[in-house]
Amino acid sequence: MERTRETTLRELRWHIAEILRLLHLDPTRDPELRDTPERVAEWYVDFFGGADREEEPEIVPLAREGGEGEMIVVADVPFYSVCAHHLLPFFGKAHVGYVPDRALLGLGSVGRLLEHYARRPQLQERLTEQVADALVRTAHPRGAIVLLQARQLCMEMRGARKPGWVTTSAARGCFQEPSWREEFFRRLRTR
Ligand code: ZN
Repeated sequence: MERTRETTLRELRWHIAEILRLLHLDPTRDPELRDTPERVAEWYVDFFGGADREEEPEIVPLAREGGEGEMIVVADVPFYSVCAHHLLPFFGKAHVGYVPDRALLGLGSVGRLLEHYARRPQLQERLTEQVADALVRTAHPRGAIVLLQARQLCMEMRGARKPGWVTTSAARGCFQEPSWREEFFRRLRTR
C-alpha cells in the first residue's frame, strides 16, 4: 500500500518528538517546542520529497539554427541543500557555462535542474556532477561546465569549526580543454 503524506507526517512527528525527548528537550514543557515536531516533519517532507522523485523536471530546449555556438554563461544561481552525512545545510551559488549545439536552454532551466538535485541529502561534489550530466542529457551541448561555491555548515558548526567555503566544478565536452575553461573563468570574473 502506498504511504500517504499524512501517514508519513504522523510517523515523523512521533519520531521527532522522541528525538527531542531523548535530548531532554520536552515539547510538553517548553511552549516554544510544542509544535516543533509538526513543523520539522512538514519541512522534511517538503524538502526531501525530491529524493523520491527520480524523474527530472521536464525541460524542453529551444531549437537553435546556425553554425558554431557562442558560450552562454548563467551565473549566481542560488541553491540550498543539506549534506548527506550530517543533514546540515550547505548553500551558495552555481555558475554554469555551456556551448550550445542545436538546442538552447530556457532561462530558468539551470535553476530547475539545480533545485531538483539539491532537494535531497547531497554531497556538493555529487550535486555538481549531476547538474553537469543533466545539462548534457537535456541540451546535448558541445560542452558544459558547472561551478558551485557553497558554505558548508557541516564544517562551520562541527569539528574544526573552520570557515566552510567550498568550490567544486564539473566539466563536460569542450570544457575539458583548458582554453574553454579559462574563457569561462574570464567571463565569470568580468561579468
Ligand atoms: Zn556533513
